[in-house]
Amino acid sequence: MNSAERAGQGGEVDVVVIGAGFAGLAMANRLQENGFSMQGFEAGGDVGGTWYWNRYPGARCDVQSMEYSYRFSEDLQQQWEWSEHFSPQPEILRYAGHVADRFDLRRHFRFHTRVLGARFDEARGRWIVATSDGAETVARFLVTAVGCLSASNVPDIAGLDSFQGLLVHTGSWPHEGVDLAGKRVGVIGTGSSGVQAIPMIAREAAELTVFQRTASYCVPAHNRPLDPADAAKIKSDYKAFRDHCGKQFGAVTGEPGTKSALEVDDAERKRIYEEAWARGGLSFQGAFYDLSYDMKANDTASAFFRDKIHEIVKDPETADKLVPKHRLGVKRLCIDTGYYDTYNRPNVHLVDLKQEPIERVTETGVRAGGKDHPLDILVLATGYDAITGPLLRMDIRGRGDRRLRDDWADGAQSYLGLGVAGFPNMFIVSGPGSPCVLTNMIYSIEQHVDWIADCLVHLRTQGLNLIEADETAQETWGEELNAMAAGTLLATGNSWYTGANIDGKPRRFMIHLDYPAYVGRCEKVAAEGYSGFTVAP
Ligand code: NAP
Repeated sequence: MNSAERAGQGGEVDVVVIGAGFAGLAMANRLQENGFSMQGFEAGGDVGGTWYWNRYPGARCDVQSMEYSYRFSEDLQQQWEWSEHFSPQPEILRYAGHVADRFDLRRHFRFHTRVLGARFDEARGRWIVATSDGAETVARFLVTAVGCLSASNVPDIAGLDSFQGLLVHTGSWPHEGVDLAGKRVGVIGTGSSGVQAIPMIAREAAELTVFQRTASYCVPAHNRPLDPADAAKIKSDYKAFRDHCGKQFGAVTGEPGTKSALEVDDAERKRIYEEAWARGGLSFQGAFYDLSYDMKANDTASAFFRDKIHEIVKDPETADKLVPKHRLGVKRLCIDTGYYDTYNRPNVHLVDLKQEPIERVTETGVRAGGKDHPLDILVLATGYDAITGPLLRMDIRGRGDRRLRDDWADGAQSYLGLGVAGFPNMFIVSGPGSPCVLTNMIYSIEQHVDWIADCLVHLRTQGLNLIEADETAQETWGEELNAMAAGTLLATGNSWYTGANIDGKPRRFMIHLDYPAYVGRCEKVAAEGYSGFTVAP
């Protein structure tokens, strides 16, 4: 009988893991290797997390395939073959399924089962986890592996419920697909998801109306079949490649530029920007080293985008609307395939919500700026209640029945993004306060999972049963993060990074900006016998 079966019969497990995305799978694998019993819960019908839900047309990773994959098994990374430079969603989902099969991980999870809440029973020193199937599971440790971008943001737009056509969110796209052919489709939202979906929808739909509130900076992906020679080169010493990634700020390749945008003349600056554009991808932001903090340097990037958009988009009025009005680096760069060019199609219409705000959604479409836009399908590409959202949608209660929601009412607090004071024996994978969304997620997930597994082994070896972040260590960690983020564009902007995209959410930037330094810190904490945590029998 496996640990999941035991738990199903009212048994107790060592660890409950919430989520069977890349974090949950990696965690299950490490727990299994180390002989811990576990029960996993997953709201979806199978493994894959974000890649299980995000099946919208054009969904694709913006970290290259050879990097966006697990490194824990040399055989796996040698044998798996990616077909494209940037993997499409179906291929990443197949990969997750392959990993689950190969390491026999599905048996640890109960699918179609959402965790509603978890409370720490102080007297017993156990977590009691309540799930949507009405069951309660008892565990010594709780690991949340719920993802950072998994709680969809459905905006409070008047009349949304009254729409009689098909309403879909990119983050929960119907598995059977959506028949767009001949339909009038509207898309609200032009972040990474919208920018990927819009060109694909435009090809199939009769008419596509894009409702844009904020124009994004979009850089071409230049996606292509993966060159077997490039893959072979990486595989010839995959470890060295991974180690190199781990030494970068975001655990992704792409060295930042060595020049200031202001030290070169106009022609040279244009040449370097054109080169970055031709290379494509997120590394554009590093074309010059000072784009993120010297506003004059930043202005040169905005000017380049303005010219580029006007070069691609034929109608000058539409091009003007597509030119971002905020600074490059305030929001995440979008990686596109034919996004700007899509607006040259006769069946694509752009509504600038700054000039023509949405008044309401009606039964038959969207009314904006006094005009009705009739629609058969309305796509919400409106993003996520990021990082904290998935954690706070569950009712997590720690010591003395204190609620995580209350503790985080003014913003998230954590120690290392891994533990929270008052919530003993709970670990967060990619939590607020860790580098999480500013890294190659699979890479940083594995670091967290390894740290947690090593910690559990340490506790077991030492005969310890309790680990809990100290309030003071947590406060100091928060101060360190604030100091690190002070003055950066990312930390001050209106984006999901700061919580500004969700009405009423406290604005707090809780992301560590330096992956290698962060890893060093985690290692130091562990080497010091988990300094900043209380560990006890
Ligand atoms: P997002 O970046 O938060 O974009 C949401 C969009 O919806 C924004 O344009 C936003 O406008 C708009 N919006 C939200 N509420 C609205 C409202 N009430 N009325 C009108 N417009 C509204 O979300 P996302 O595009 O899903 O991307 C989230 C993150 O997921 C990305 O930054 C990225 O990290 C990740 N992602 C990655 C990939 C990839 O790997 N290529 C693909 C998809 C997503 P405002 O900007 O004005 O708020």
